Amino acid sequence: MSAQIIDGKALALKLREGIAQEVQALEKDTGIKPGLAAVLVGDDPASAMYVRNKKIACEKAGLYPQEHLLPAATTQEALLALIHQLNADPKIHGILVQLPLPAHIESKMILQAVSPEKDADGFHPVNVGRLVEGDPVFVPCTPKGVMHMIDSTGVDITGKRAVVIGRSNIVGKPVAMLLLHRHATVTICHSRTKDLPAVVHEADIVVAAIGKPAFVTPDMVKEGAVVIDVGINRLPDGKLVGDVDFDRVKERAGWITPVPGGVGPMTIAMLLQNTLESAKRFAKKITG
Ligand code: NAD
Repeated sequence: MSAQIIDGKALALKLREGIAQEVQALEKDTGIKPGLAAVLVGDDPASAMYVRNKKIACEKAGLYPQEHLLPAATTQEALLALIHQLNADPKIHGILVQLPLPAHIESKMILQAVSPEKDADGFHPVNVGRLVEGDPVFVPCTPKGVMHMIDSTGVDITGKRAVVIGRSNIVGKPVAMLLLHRHATVTICHSRTKDLPAVVHEADIVVAAIGKPAFVTPDMVKEGAVVIDVGINRLPDGKLVGDVDFDRVKERAGWITPVPGGVGPMTIAMLLQNTLESAKRFAKKITG
């Protein structure tokens, strides 16, 4: 039987509609409009497109977007000064620094300069620590979207075997932590995992975040499993695909996300949600 498709576009649209209503209500009640500052250094076309899409999404949902497009030669000191300025700006509740930064800038130092209370991407060590402790403030956007997609299936995560393929700080590790907090039995696979197909085959929930087209094949997937494909890969013919061999795996899985139209749209929706939640926390501090 063919899997049910988890429609990321439809889920994200619904989320964004809810966010837009909450943004309006917050502004009406407190005068506060959630503000998101995006910082881009250099002219990488893919990064520029991501930042532009985030700005459009902010505008559509009624948030206040601020764009800082800086030349590639921007010094680390100048970038730090901008981050400090945004940390102090009361109109800004979320700050995102588009990665990758040019080689002469120390990304770690910049991400650590962002106030943990405005860290919309959830990459600051303080927020990573809060997440590990099970008391998160900002959950990284893509992992948050992954959890929302799993929840949309109605499958109870408690006690399930979950396998996350990929151990990056921005996807693999936080997804594994979120699944663990929801009482899944979690295994993280990576490039040095022995007999990876056998490990994946035990999973009721598979999250693939590798960056390799058609990496997850049907023989690896347990019948009826939930398969979430985070990968974004551009094939030589220009086609965009995930890490899962979608056409074949969908014949075995119970639920599956497509690429495009899966996790991607959820990431932006969660960025808006993180900024809204941050603005609400600021409003609470002011109004008591
Ligand atoms: P990354 O390169 O930082 O990490 C990839 C991980 O895959 C590594 O931990 C590595 O151990 C693992 N890996 C590589 N080769 C492997 C192999 N042969 N066997 C097992 N594991 C292997 O990548 P990332 O930033 O985590 O992103 C992963 C993918 O997700 C990329 O395609 C990226 O474009 C995509 N992504 C999508 C979104 C979204 O919004 N949809 C967001 C972030 C990343």
